[in-house]
Amino acid sequence: MTNENIEKIRRQFPVLSRRIGEKDLIYLDNTATSQTPSTVVREIEFLYDNSKANVHRGVHTLSQEATDRQEHTRRRVQGWINAAEFEEIIFTRGTTEAINLVASSFGDRFRDGDEIILTVMEHHANIVPWQLLQRHKDIKLRVVEINDRGELDLEQYRSLFNEHTVMASFTHISNVLGTVNPVKEMTRIAHEHGVPVLVDGAQAVPHLRPDVQQIGCDFYVFSSHKMYGPTGVGILYGRRELLESMPPYQGGGEMIKHVSFSHTTFAELPFKFEAGTPDFIDIAAFSKAFDFLEETGMDMISMHEKQLLDYTTRRLLDIPGIKIYGSAPDKAAVISFNIGEAHNYDVGFLLDKMGVAVRTGHHCAQPLMERLGVPGTVRASFAVYNTFDEADRFIDALRRIAPMLM
Ligand code: PLP
Repeated sequence: MTNENIEKIRRQFPVLSRRIGEKDLIYLDNTATSQTPSTVVREIEFLYDNSKANVHRGVHTLSQEATDRQEHTRRRVQGWINAAEFEEIIFTRGTTEAINLVASSFGDRFRDGDEIILTVMEHHANIVPWQLLQRHKDIKLRVVEINDRGELDLEQYRSLFNEHTVMASFTHISNVLGTVNPVKEMTRIAHEHGVPVLVDGAQAVPHLRPDVQQIGCDFYVFSSHKMYGPTGVGILYGRRELLESMPPYQGGGEMIKHVSFSHTTFAELPFKFEAGTPDFIDIAAFSKAFDFLEETGMDMISMHEKQLLDYTTRRLLDIPGIKIYGSAPDKAAVISFNIGEAHNYDVGFLLDKMGVAVRTGHHCAQPLMERLGVPGTVRASFAVYNTFDEADRFIDALRRIAPMLM
């Protein structure tokens, strides 16, 4: 991508011009949340100022506008991930809520002795909701291991399936290792055993455009705030047949056909799973994030991030004492590392003094930390607006920090 292109993109993110103390901000915490372009922010402001009304309730103009906007975003999401029908797109508060919805509602049918396959690289959001099922049922979690490059052991994955397996749930891209998992192949293997699949796409959607029909998965979940959209909005894609067979997750307004004290009937998809007032302003503004991604071009985004990843990794490896976790050939622009025995928190703290925002700690992936044998890592992650100059300044800062801590 040319400097001119990058500058044009950066102008859409005013926060990137911020200073942290005396230093220019270098924002490398994109895996936790990306920044949001002004088009999205202006849309939110416009809607609050001009068109705020609750969806699906009123016949008045504002309410109809609000409903149209929300449903426009639903169709936008449907097209973006190539879902067969718009009814298969459910709005949630985020990836976490989407997985909880599936674990609770789809998991309703699981029985004592059933087994769920997860991987060691899962975010807690794709571990704990399944564990909650264990409060009432004797359900076993089976875990796929990784090799030293941070790739899943597919042979072991295959060997975990048996007549008790009822679900396989795994991440598309690791939020720590950056590994891009072969989700299509993994789905195919699960389906050979008649096992449904949930793919956690939280870390995939900022970097690539998933095609749920091509992957073949039964559920695909992600969050708007990690892909340049507003906070408070998530997506659950589910195949219609499965969604229809599932009980509601939450009860309340919007999700019913008729309520009486003796009997209540539920609304059709997708509303059956959307109890209460949704975050309709942010949902509406989410469509502007798709405009941004489309105008920038996913191919351009992937290519630029890959170049930043390769360049930064090469230069980081020149720093004495550095250890990078995750070196899969197919890897997103996420670099987790430690320097010697230095505590990840100290590295992050000193980087912040130099204007560099990275994440430190266990990244909500404690089982993976245990597997790696560390309490935590420093994690730098790139988005389309990051530059090679920022990568250089990040590495220069680390070069200054490393001798202080070792
Ligand atoms: N899954 C993965 C792989 C993630 O990286 C994250 C957040 O970092 C989540 C799930 C949870 O996303 P949210 O907090 O938006 O629900």
